Amino acid sequence: MLQGLMMDTPLLITRIMRFADINHAGREIVSVTADSPRHRYTYADAFVRTRQLANALAGLGMREGDRIATLAWNDHRHLELYYAISCSGSVCHTINPRLFTEQIEYIVNHAEDRLVFTDPMFVPLLEELADKLPTVEAYIVLTDAEHMPDTSLKGAVSYEELLAGEPGEFDWPEFDENAACSLCYTSGTTGNPKGALFSHRATVLHAYGICLPDVMSFSERNCVLPVVPMFHVNAWGAPYGVPMTGAKLVLPGPKMGDSEALHELMESENVDYSLGVPTVWLNLLAYLEESGQTANSLQRVCVGGAACPASIIETFDTKHDVYVHHAWGMTEMSPVGVYNSLKTGMEALPADELLQVRLRQGRGLFGVEMKIVDDNGQELPWDGVSFGALKVRGPWVVSAYYKDDRPAVDADGWFDTGDVANITPEGFMQITDRTKDVIKSGGEWISSIELENTAVNHPKVAEAAVIGIAHPKWTERPLLVVVMRPGETISREDMLAWFDGKVAKWWIPDDVAFVDELPHTATGKLKKIALREQFADYEFPAGSES
Ligand code: ADP
Repeated sequence: MLQGLMMDTPLLITRIMRFADINHAGREIVSVTADSPRHRYTYADAFVRTRQLANALAGLGMREGDRIATLAWNDHRHLELYYAISCSGSVCHTINPRLFTEQIEYIVNHAEDRLVFTDPMFVPLLEELADKLPTVEAYIVLTDAEHMPDTSLKGAVSYEELLAGEPGEFDWPEFDENAACSLCYTSGTTGNPKGALFSHRATVLHAYGICLPDVMSFSERNCVLPVVPMFHVNAWGAPYGVPMTGAKLVLPGPKMGDSEALHELMESENVDYSLGVPTVWLNLLAYLEESGQTANSLQRVCVGGAACPASIIETFDTKHDVYVHHAWGMTEMSPVGVYNSLKTGMEALPADELLQVRLRQGRGLFGVEMKIVDDNGQELPWDGVSFGALKVRGPWVVSAYYKDDRPAVDADGWFDTGDVANITPEGFMQITDRTKDVIKSGGEWISSIELENTAVNHPKVAEAAVIGIAHPKWTERPLLVVVMRPGETISREDMLAWFDGKVAKWWIPDDVAFVDELPHTATGKLKKIALREQFADYEFPAGSES
C-alpha cells in the first residue's frame, strides 16, 4: 500500500484546548457554582487554571492511565478537570451522583480511582462510602477555603487551595491518540454498570461529528448551555465541540433542575442553543407558561436521551419560535448516533407529515454506520416500516467494556444497541422500543414507545409507560400505566378512546392502571424492569381484551 505523506498528528483533546486558547482566548465561559451565583472568565483564563491543575495532579503523583473520579455538576471547575486530567494522560472518570450508593461504590472500586474531585453537596454521600473505597488516596472538594465543609474525608482539601501557587505553565505530553481520556459507566438497569472507556481519538472525532452543519452546527457566534450533565456521557460532547468552535459556554452548575434559574441564565447570557432530556424541556415549558414568559434568546434545542414528545416540538415552535432537533445516542456511542435535521424540500411537507419526520430520532451523521436486522440477523430494508434490532459501528462506538475480556461487538464488528428501530428511505431512524421492552402480541411486535408517546400527548397525562402482560391467547397484551397531571382525572374508557385512530386498533392497550409515580433510573429513564415487577401479579379484567 502506498502511504500518504501527511503528518501523523495524534488526535488528542489537548489540541482542542490549545486551539481554543490561541484562537478564542477572550470568549467567555460562564458558570453557576455552589459558591458563586455567576462565575465568569475566558477560555484563556480556563486553560491557565487547567495547567495549574495539571501541575497539582503531577504533584499528587498521578501517572498516565490513572483513573481520577469527578462527582460534579456542570461548571468551570469540572471543565478544567476534563482537560487537565485527560491531557496529562490520566483518565477522567465522571460519576453520576444520582446513582445508588452501592453502584457508586462498585464503579469507584472497579475503576480503581486514585482521587475523587467532588462538589461540596456530595461530601456527606462520600463520607458514608469512604471506608469502602480503598483505592482512593485523597478527596478534593470543588470550592474555595472559605466554603470548605468540615469533613472526615481522607486528605480533604479545597480545589482552590490545591491550585493556589501552582505555575500556569505545563508541558502537555504527546501520546498515542488511542489512549483513554475518559470513562463513564452505564447506569445498568440490569446487572452491574459497565464502563465505556473513551479514547482521545474517538472524542476528537465525535466532537468534529457533532459540530457538523446538519448536526449541532456550533459556531463561534453561538452561546451554548448544556443542561445535560457533564457526569453522564460528557454532556453529549458539548465540552469538546464548543471549545473546538469557540462558542460561548454557559454551565448551570447545581441549577440544572431549576427552570426559573435556567430561563434567567439563558436570557441574561444570550444562550441560543441548549441540550437536554425531555423532562428538562417539559419543566421549562411549563414554567414559561405559568409565569407568562417566553424564551427570547433561545433559537435551537437538542432533545435526546428519551423519545421527544410532540408537545415539546410544537410548543417551542408556536410559542417561543425555537426549533427543536430530536437526537439519539447512548453511553456506548460517546454518545451521539443520529440527529434530526430536515433534508431538501421537507419544510414543504404538510404539517402532520412534517411533525412525523421531526419526531423520528434523526438521521446518521458521518462517523456512525447503522443497520437494522431481524431475529436471524438478516438485514432489513430502509422502508420506514420494517423494524428490527439496531446495530451500529464507527470510530466512537465501544468495542469492549472496561476490564471485560469479552468483545462488545459481533463477529462483523457491529455493536447491538439494544434498541429496536425502523429507518426511512431518506435515512431517518425511529426507535420503536428497547429490545427487552418489546411487546409481542399474536406473533407481532407492538411498539411500547409509540403507545407511551400517544398517551403523553393527552393534555391530562403527565407520564406514561406501557408494558407487556402475559395473555393466554395473544402471548402478551399491552397495559398502560399512567400518572395524571396534578388535580386531573380521566376514566379508563376515555383514556383508551384517546388511542382510537392514532394507533393500529390491535395496538390499543387492554387496560389502564393509574399510579402516583413511575420508577426511574438514575438518569431519569423509565425503569421498566421495576414496573414489570410491580405488575407481576396483574391480570387483565375479564372482557377487556381487544
Ligand atoms: P444509560 O447508559 O444510563 O442507560 P444512555 O444515555 O446510554 O443511558 O441510554 C441510551 C438509551 O437511551 C438508548 O439506547 C435508547 O434506548 C434511549 N434513548 C436515547 N435517546 C433516545 C431518543 N431520542 N428516543 C428514544 N430513546 C432514546
